[in-house]
Amino acid sequence: MSNCTNCGEFILFGGIKDGLNHFCSEKCRQRFSLAAIEQLAQEHLPDNFVEQQVNEFHQSDCPCCGGRGPIDIHNSYRCVSLIVLTRSQTIPQLSCRSCAGSAKLKNLLLTGFFGWWGLPWGLVLTPLYIGKNLYGLIFPTPSDRPSEQLRQHVKTTLLIQILDKENTDT
Ligand SMILES: [Zn+2]
Ligand SMILES: [Zn+2]
Repeated sequence: MSNCTNCGEFILFGGIKDGLNHFCSEKCRQRFSLAAIEQLAQEHLPDNFVEQQVNEFHQSDCPCCGGRGPIDIHNSYRCVSLIVLTRSQTIPQLSCRSCAGSAKLKNLLLTGFFGWWGLPWGLVLTPLYIGKNLYGLIFPTPSDRPSEQLRQHVKTTLLIQILDKENTDT
């Protein structure tokens, strides 16, 4: 028996073990890893270095079409069903805005064709996921500045590089 590493709540049974840490819920595990990344970033990465890397990355070429940036992490949403099984996912994609638009349109169509055929979740989730893609097509992520999701991605990548290097140096 132990206490949650993140919130300190007493864990009666179950919980999630992650290495030496023990969490009361998946939410706490995620919060803790985000907080740990923040903490490590503060120790290893100067703010203006992160800022510069994020902006540079934001302006780089699109890894999907090779065209000019800015690029960002764009989510599209897919829901497909097979009788009683319905599988819904959020699919993040690092790309320019026009590739992101194609991905949303593709997943909107896939969901429109294959989402409905599952009971009961297909009927519930399909209109929701079509709506999420439509919303993303009508109101795309602004491209004038990097999103919080992209910042987090760059920060994590930089941290992994730095920590890997420190491990091989010593
Ligand atoms: Zn907790
Ligand atoms: Zn592209």
